[in-house]
Amino acid sequence: MGPINGLVASLSQLQTGLAAIHRVEEVANLDAEDSSSEGNLPEAVRIPVSSGPAQVVFEDVTFRYADDLPYVHHGVSFTSSGRGLTALVGPSGAGKTTVFSLIERFYPATTGSVKVDGVDVADWPLEELRGLIGYVEQDAPVLDGTLRENLVMASPDASDADLDEVVEVARLTELVAKLPDGLDSRIGYRGTTLSGGERQRVAIARALLRKPRLLLLDEATSQLDAANEAALKQVMLDAAERTNVLVVAHRLSTVTSADQIVVFDAGLVRAVGTHAELVEKDELYRDLAASQLLTAV
Ligand code: ADP
Ligand code: MG
Repeated sequence: MGPINGLVASLSQLQTGLAAIHRVEEVANLDAEDSSSEGNLPEAVRIPVSSGPAQVVFEDVTFRYADDLPYVHHGVSFTSSGRGLTALVGPSGAGKTTVFSLIERFYPATTGSVKVDGVDVADWPLEELRGLIGYVEQDAPVLDGTLRENLVMASPDASDADLDEVVEVARLTELVAKLPDGLDSRIGYRGTTLSGGERQRVAIARALLRKPRLLLLDEATSQLDAANEAALKQVMLDAAERTNVLVVAHRLSTVTSADQIVVFDAGLVRAVGTHAELVEKDELYRDLAASQLLTAV
């Protein structure tokens, strides 16, 4: 059974890898879009030409995945502007990850609006919208290939200096040093197996390499050891000094340093504040924080 089990494991990893490649291709080819609006702007509506952190505004957003499914968002409103860390927390199923899907325009809001830099995402040319966003999915996979290939897959024109910089920001310097061929070492299922913490940081480095004006980060729920948890927190704080970072947070260590925490519950924002403010004023938040796991059901 040994070889068969190995084969099955490889196949499932291959499928994960292929799914990831498809997602990257979809984003690149823009064929997975919500095509209800193809950025057909009237002349009067102009996309602001800007650099720096992009602002996100949810205005009374309701959303359901299909007409025959229940609403996931019942009127969500919040704003995230400028550099800094906004953490989304709340029970499992509250609608946090769906917030990212609406920002990326994988689906259109049912009512209300999702705005990026003051323009409804439905009015953005999709390529430009997705071009400004770095999205680190929960459990973003590492593909079979070299570490360098894993990093540059979405930014083929990245310079060596850019690479060195994100390796440092993502706290991957030690990993690169210990791998047999540095950045050119093979990782993934036929190479060196990375720890969960290392995989997350590779995915963040990949996203940062694109110099996103908005970084969406869906934290993996897997346990990290203390060193990896501290490293992840530092990476997020460094990223938040460069750009606007929204993180679906599962860890107390992430939220305690967030500039703003948005507490979701059953498709609504029930409170916004810093950790200290929310511990003071919000019972659900206090319970979640006490349990250490901010998505506990
Ligand atoms: P959270 O990230 O807060 O755990 P999600 O945004 O992932 O919550 O999900 C909110 C609700 O939407 C859940 O009930 C979930 O089952 C449902 N949901 C998520 N993704 C889809 C989808 N692609 N199709 C249908 N329902 C979905
Ligand atoms: Mg989620």
